Amino acid sequence: MTGRAGDHDDVQRLAALIRQSSAGVVFTGAGISTESGIPDFRSPGGVWDRMPPIYFDSFMNSAEMRREAWRRRFAMEEMFGGAQPNAGHLAVAELARRGKVGHVITQNIDNLHQASGVPADNIIELHGNTTYATCLVCSTRYEIAPLKICFERDGEVPDCRLCGGFVKAATISFGQSMPETAMQRAQDATLACDLFLVAGSSLVVYPAAGFPLLAKRMGARLVILNRTPTDQDDHADLIIRAGIGATLTAALALLE
Ligand code: ZN
Repeated sequence: MTGRAGDHDDVQRLAALIRQSSAGVVFTGAGISTESGIPDFRSPGGVWDRMPPIYFDSFMNSAEMRREAWRRRFAMEEMFGGAQPNAGHLAVAELARRGKVGHVITQNIDNLHQASGVPADNIIELHGNTTYATCLVCSTRYEIAPLKICFERDGEVPDCRLCGGFVKAATISFGQSMPETAMQRAQDATLACDLFLVAGSSLVVYPAAGFPLLAKRMGARLVILNRTPTDQDDHADLIIRAGIGATLTAALALLE
């Protein structure tokens, strides 16, 4: 699902806003990654309608829920592990390379901004990252592949070898507190930006969805590029309901 670019006038307005900006922030949600074949788990009929998410407390309190969480994680690997950045990710990376975009704030957990070439330090992940795991106590990082080998052999993922804590995919589960550092960095980037470009988020998940309004209140221009209307469209300087990759690629071409 890649979709068409926005109308020519809209793309020109987007290019003009980018040209005028010197400190842009891009805020991405599931919509940018569906163009890479990764499903939107929250959408109606999406994965979570069929298979309710495992809450953080359940993961902590139940060995069976931990096994189930890992079973799902490894199944996801087989379905989407080969997903590659698409034209939207690459356009965002190009904007970062040109210095037009300082930070990318993302609700996605798929690591595709990093894979597209945005420096990891410039990416703020509000919901974590599913491509590795961490100990919930001491934060030691674990890679997925060796955990999968243990799981297939023992039927469970081993606890942290340093402290004995539970090891979990490095995503933020339902019921788990938002990552403080990421939230603070996202707020700082939002306060400092002059252009806030939403790409592929319906802006329904708070507190993350509060950032566009904060940017607007502080005087930044707000662009919402999303296939469907959002609650914050009334506040946007420009709304484009079209494919993300096609639209951003077209806008980039006008910046040459
Ligand atoms: Zn540990």
